[in-house]
Amino acid sequence: MLNELFQVWRDLLTPQNPPEPKPDLQMVDWLPSVPHDRRIPDERDFSKRTIPASFVVVHTTGAGIVQKAFDKGIKDCREVARYACRYYARSGNGVSTHFLIDWDGYVWQILPLGVQGWHAGWKTNVRQLYAGTDWQRWSHPLGGSLAAQPPAGGYAAWKEAFPGLDSPAQLLPEGAPSPNTGSISVDLLAVPAGGPWTEAQKDTLNSLTLELCDRMNVERTAVTVLPHSYLDPMRRMTVKKSGKVQELAWDPKGWDDLLDFGS
Ligand SMILES: [Zn+2]
Repeated sequence: MLNELFQVWRDLLTPQNPPEPKPDLQMVDWLPSVPHDRRIPDERDFSKRTIPASFVVVHTTGAGIVQKAFDKGIKDCREVARYACRYYARSGNGVSTHFLIDWDGYVWQILPLGVQGWHAGWKTNVRQLYAGTDWQRWSHPLGGSLAAQPPAGGYAAWKEAFPGLDSPAQLLPEGAPSPNTGSISVDLLAVPAGGPWTEAQKDTLNSLTLELCDRMNVERTAVTVLPHSYLDPMRRMTVKKSGKVQELAWDPKGWDDLLDFGS
């Protein structure tokens, strides 16, 4: 909406220019509400979207990156956020996200909206399992060999969240090979010592996801804004040395209290 107003205003100011053709994707830019000093562009070669974005995936950065910043003597919220964004934006790692929300609720942008991020991809074997219902029996999909034992806790939490569905593949748009396709990624900067999310982070997560859903022209619901773990529940299962299967905490912690979808 703001963007359209800006476009109108700009056209009024420059009537001598022939009207430029509108970009075919509404997602090609940077969010106008994120100022330049909070844009840390990742200049690697990301794929342009082939399927329009229609949902948001919410992640946490994990505490490791915050600790790394602390170890370098970086303590200030804004500088820790900048450090984390630069981590995402540098080559040599296979991850990058569109947005990061710092503890004070400021939004940072790393990827333009018109490209796919690297934040929730499925490896081939994982994708094959999600194509059916077999994944519900697998307990250790990422360790090289797949153990065909049903996990102790099952996938009760996932099934409770999506009673009508069989697989996270059904949450993706038609033709999307993994959650990276058709999504926008938002990372919450981990709070030190496993502390709770700040109120500012919660407020911004609500307003940012509203703004993004508005731009994508979708309603903001529990299906258009999803935590990473709902899109890759197998990744949350692990087999301990003892052979015991344990379900790791789903991230982001306290998901149910993070977003207000209204009722
Ligand atoms: Zn994640």
